[in-house]
Amino acid sequence: MKIKAAVFYKPNTPFQIETLDLAKPRSGEVLVRVGAVGVCHSDWHVMTGATPHPVPCVVGHEGAGTVETVGAGVNRVRVGDHVALNWAPNCGTCFYCMNGRPSLCATYVGPIWAGTMMDGTTRLSKDGTPVYHFSSLACFAEYAVVPQECCVPIRNEVPLPIAALIGCAVTTGVGAVLNTARVKKGSSVVVYGAGGVGLSIILGARYAAADRIIAIDRTTAKREIALRCGATDFLPADERTVSQIQSLTEGRGADYVFEAIGLPMVQEECLHAARPGGTIVLAGISPVGSNTNLPGAIITRQEKTIMGSYYGTANTSADFPLYADLYLQGKLTLDLLISKQYSLDRINEAYADMLTGDGGRGVVVF
Ligand SMILES: [Zn+2]
Ligand SMILES: [Zn+2]
Repeated sequence: MKIKAAVFYKPNTPFQIETLDLAKPRSGEVLVRVGAVGVCHSDWHVMTGATPHPVPCVVGHEGAGTVETVGAGVNRVRVGDHVALNWAPNCGTCFYCMNGRPSLCATYVGPIWAGTMMDGTTRLSKDGTPVYHFSSLACFAEYAVVPQECCVPIRNEVPLPIAALIGCAVTTGVGAVLNTARVKKGSSVVVYGAGGVGLSIILGARYAAADRIIAIDRTTAKREIALRCGATDFLPADERTVSQIQSLTEGRGADYVFEAIGLPMVQEECLHAARPGGTIVLAGISPVGSNTNLPGAIITRQEKTIMGSYYGTANTSADFPLYADLYLQGKLTLDLLISKQYSLDRINEAYADMLTGDGGRGVVVF
């Protein structure tokens, strides 16, 4: 079939809206009519070359839609199901899946980073030349063929833009709080970065009944949305941030400090924002090959714990429906995350808005 998609050809050039060929789903694959896709920084890392990827490709990995047709042997979803898409599908049988760490599943890593389906081929092409699929999802397109393992059914009452955000930012942020750090009731929490993931961390910390939630961002335009999501305090990022955090936490530093940007300099500051015995959670994706310089003497003497959190340490099959339920119950106010909706034709504008950073998540809707 012919579909309209946003195609990426080489780093630091805009998306081209083009018509591509999309082949039918093969065995174990699903054709999804895309309903909504979030404008996430991880796609931008591909656009700048910070995340190397085969090209041309279609990015977009924070998606949700409706199952249109299914290939042979598909048993996880049925035609008509609403699905949120999981960008790190898990097999259920490898060492990590068997030991309760499905976000670290080792089975599909190869084809995902090769930009193909699990059999090593693409379903997308243009004039007979393959076009690659980012994260095996490629949702900046009207339709996507995806492995069935990427499809998590979501109740129809959940609007597709919300389901899309559950597919990346919400699971990454709320999961970092509930699964990775397991934030305790009454604790103090600091969140560096108030983008889609950072705001989701704030929502998760409020749900976990943290007492003090301090949001930090380089732009004060994020203050209002951070406070609405549940932050008790907002600090602009500058040289006084750490001392201000200490004065808000009885001079100690915070129990938990989350980094939701992926900048080595900020990751290093997080160590000083955490109290002795505190936990630092690195949830932002850093550019491939970057390094963080953390002082071992302080980590040891002050017993600080540093945790990596990838996709919110999620078990997506259980966590996506859980976050959808918490949304429907009013316990996770995910509507607050969505700043603006765009048509696919305006995707370059959506990314420009993301970079100026004055709101929540932009969402492309179909
Ligand atoms: Zn994302
Ligand atoms: Zn696995």
